[in-house]
Amino acid sequence: MCAAVADKYQDIRDAVRGLCAEFPDEYFRKVDEARAYPEQFVDALTKAGWMAALIPQEYGGSGLGLTEASVIMEEINRAGGNSGACHGQMYNMNTLLRHGSKAQKEFYLPKIATGEWRLQSMGVTEPTTGTDTTKIKTTAVKKGDKYVINGQKVWISRIQHSDFMILLARTTPLAEVKKKSDGLSIFMVDLREAEKKGMTVRPILNMVNHETNELFFENLEIPEENLIGEEGKGFKYILDGLNAERTLIAAECIGDGYWFIDRVSKYVKDRIVFGRPIGQNQGVQFPIAESYIEVEAASLMRWKACELFDAHQPMGAEANMAKYLAAKASWEAANACIQFHGGFGFACEYDVERKFRETRLYQVAPISTNLILSFVAEHVLGLPRSF
Ligand SMILES: Cc1cc2nc3c(=O)[nH]c(=O)nc-3n(C[C@H](O)[C@H](O)[C@H](O)COP(=O)(O)OP(=O)(O)OC[C@H]3O[C@@H](n4cnc5c(N)ncnc54)[C@H](O)[C@@H]3O)c2cc1C
Repeated sequence: MCAAVADKYQDIRDAVRGLCAEFPDEYFRKVDEARAYPEQFVDALTKAGWMAALIPQEYGGSGLGLTEASVIMEEINRAGGNSGACHGQMYNMNTLLRHGSKAQKEFYLPKIATGEWRLQSMGVTEPTTGTDTTKIKTTAVKKGDKYVINGQKVWISRIQHSDFMILLARTTPLAEVKKKSDGLSIFMVDLREAEKKGMTVRPILNMVNHETNELFFENLEIPEENLIGEEGKGFKYILDGLNAERTLIAAECIGDGYWFIDRVSKYVKDRIVFGRPIGQNQGVQFPIAESYIEVEAASLMRWKACELFDAHQPMGAEANMAKYLAAKASWEAANACIQFHGGFGFACEYDVERKFRETRLYQVAPISTNLILSFVAEHVLGLPRSF
């Protein structure tokens, strides 16, 4: 394994590595080929308590911070797995934890902690509005003691492996609010009930083995007590969840980056062409060294984002910058890894092409690289708004 800078989380690293060692490359390769869900792996992570890392001890979790959670995600991806199958279970509940009522936390969190209930899904993106989130068209209209949901979502992941979803919907029309981010609200949706009462799920076959779906809502009624926090403030609440998500995905990219660097470093030492290891050529060494430097730098920004989040400080800029740096670094490492494996990089049995596809996603989701640049330009540097 390449020598990453030592940190104080070695115990967590060793424990997660130990669990991941029971799920070798062949396991993830077979799951990928079958387009299946890594049920056994997710169960093992849940039983070992890793998925409940961020849930406070009073609700049955281990009460760790985002820092430790990021180490868990990093190690899963570093071991050759893909946290994308289950990372939602770790961070989605954060919105509930920070903004839900005591009664909601007491009701949901203990069962999420044991894994009896899975809260793996968050429904934000819509087909006609894309990244322009405040323009979403899904509405939640109060009728008596219920909200009635109508609209459509796209790319909503892990619905088929979730019991609950956090849904963002507009409760006050855009034309009636002062700020476009006002008038949006978030709800807990019981997916098992919703599928019987007005929600239709249409799976989207995609480049990665990632379970994601289109959702259609037609007069879906949900109880008013499923509203999280105050009506109309959902956009602000969901940002907390999204910032945690971006930081944890940065950690996954860091794990991917190390995985690619480990694999390619070993391969180029062993592969002899023109009578010497290909890794003796500086044209081969430099892209690998460069991506290692970038992964290490991304990791520093990840620590900074985690530290601020755990201290309840504003960290939108750091979360975005960590995600940007880490996704870029893992993609550079992926390119070097596939390139220097030559033809073998394309053979499924080497696992490089699978990890290459998986890490490519993070240039686009959960937030595209361009939108991060735009956030930093406008909100950090104060440049004129472009939209
Ligand atoms: C596999 C997968 C899983 C996903 N899971 C979820 C999920 O669980 N829940 C959820 O809510 N969403 C999910 N998403 C959606 C994801 O967050 C969005 O795809 C992503 O934010 C980009 O939005 P979009 O696809 O609508 O792209 P668009 O907004 O249509 O943008 C397309 C591209 O145009 C560029 N662009 C757009 N606007 C600008 C601009 N102003 N300036 C410069 N460039 C711009 C960007 O490069 C962007 O990538 C998932 C997506 C994928 C592919």
